[in-house]
Amino acid sequence: MTKTRTYLDYNASAPLLAEARAAAIAALDSANPSSVHSEGRAARQMADRARRSVAALVGGEAEHVIFTSGATEAAATLLSPDWRMGRSALRFSKLYVCEADHACTLGGGRFDAGDVVRFGVDVNGIADLAGLESVLAQHDREAGLPLVAVHAANNETGVIQPVQEIARVVKAAGGVLIVDAVQAVGRISIEITNDCGDFFILSAHKIGGPKGVGAFVGRSDLMMPVPLITGGGQEKGHRAGTENLSGIAGFGAAAEIAAAGFDAMDAMRNLRDKAEAALLQQFPGAIIHGKSVARLANTSLFTIPGLKAETALIAFDLAGIAVSSGSACSSGRVGPSHVLKAMGFDAEEGAIRLSTGPETTQADIGRFEAALADIAARRGGRPKAA
Ligand code: PLP
Repeated sequence: MTKTRTYLDYNASAPLLAEARAAAIAALDSANPSSVHSEGRAARQMADRARRSVAALVGGEAEHVIFTSGATEAAATLLSPDWRMGRSALRFSKLYVCEADHACTLGGGRFDAGDVVRFGVDVNGIADLAGLESVLAQHDREAGLPLVAVHAANNETGVIQPVQEIARVVKAAGGVLIVDAVQAVGRISIEITNDCGDFFILSAHKIGGPKGVGAFVGRSDLMMPVPLITGGGQEKGHRAGTENLSGIAGFGAAAEIAAAGFDAMDAMRNLRDKAEAALLQQFPGAIIHGKSVARLANTSLFTIPGLKAETALIAFDLAGIAVSSGSACSSGRVGPSHVLKAMGFDAEEGAIRLSTGPETTQADIGRFEAALADIAARRGGRPKAA
């Protein structure tokens, strides 16, 4: 990502932070953290520091952090019908997931497709609490407990979910709540001890850490899913396999920076709002999704009526600007967004997502504005408001 380009796709992957790169490189030479010799113990200390930093980011305890290969693996581990509470087996008979969730939880993990129930969102992308309450009221407790998964902040729209209210509904139904906090951490204050769910799913590369490393963090470890990956006893038996120490060390360093980074949010909101004002000036009919509710300060998802998102993406790319079309998790696929569909919006143009980070500057947004003006001019002047 050279400086001749403007990178506005942080929700897909934030650029690697210098501190995360340094920590990851330092850990590449480490020994096996399970070894008892001095070299092994030094490696263990690196992992432990990262564990403390990741825990601190979400107000949790270091011993409740289980490192994985990313948020997707964390979700696949947690979304299981089979859990253990001490020596006893615990069964979740149904999984309730939000329609606007990321594919990693929407897919239902290790539940049979028939045991996955979806609850919707309103036109603004906010989870339908009454709908969730109603499906949970029909839950058959004889068959097992209800497990619920929801994202804290949407990767496409940036819309922030009322996680505490959702947690209250889930608790009242005797369920367990898994929160995909991937896009929320470091951007909004969300703490696992603050009645915000029972387990958080995290990913390093959304906060400036390396790709291919993530974690799940529990309020406690009394109740844990049956492991997805079995073998050695790493991660206290909850995730076997020699730790990706380089990734974990990089994740820890990024978590330390993210935990201190809330001050940047106001500046990021100003830049995002400036970009949106320019969008509406050039394209008065543009639709900004989720604009009337609380959103992440760094995210804007918009549709320009009559202009295909794919065409706009190419035009932005040629102008040196990296934006995306909603989620980037589908191998470069540009297709209809299930998030917008869940919000009742199904325009064939699709939508363009701009997502900034602490390093985004006024000049970056200036280039975005110039590219917008160029696209509008090439389309023969400003279209009329819809
Ligand atoms: N959850 C959300 C909200 C995401 O945005 C993403 C990635 O885009 C994931 C989960 C998956 O994360 P990972 O790439 O670590 O598997």
